[in-house]
Amino acid sequence: MKLESLRDLLVEQLQDLYDAESRITKALPKMAKAATSPALKAAFEKHLRETEGQVKRLEQVFEALGETAKTKTCKAMQGLIAEGEETMSEDAEPEVLDAALIAAAQRVEHYEMAGYGTVRAYAKLLKQDACVRLLEQTLEEEKATDEALTTLAESTINVEAV
Ligand code: FE
Ligand code: FE
Ligand code: FE
Repeated sequence: MKLESLRDLLVEQLQDLYDAESRITKALPKMAKAATSPALKAAFEKHLRETEGQVKRLEQVFEALGETAKTKTCKAMQGLIAEGEETMSEDAEPEVLDAALIAAAQRVEHYEMAGYGTVRAYAKLLKQDACVRLLEQTLEEEKATDEALTTLAESTINVEAV
């Protein structure tokens, strides 16, 4: 599709995020299964439930814009998930593997934070207030997940991996 305006770019960026989020819903159960630390497992499971809600929230955003919810392959998320899978297949001590899972997961959260920050800014400029609120909620969940992972890593998991 030809990008003629910021609105077109917003829709395209949302399609990328829609694809990314649906890929994450498939990756998170595997990461929860691979994690040894019960706290890390719980963090992945919690974010899986949030991510399922984020997929639905994106569908609401498309609806508010009068657009059909479509995906555009997110090559970056394909790559981040492929790296995560490589991590899980490595021969590693459980504590070190947990630290590596956090490293992979935080890359995903940062990619999402960049994506949602961008679409929120576009929606704001286009005066799509309902979309701004929905995108803001997801952005806050991604930030909170990133912070929770940092706390978990710094308080216990990285320390145990030493
Ligand atoms: Fe997400
Ligand atoms: Fe992407
Ligand atoms: Fe996330």
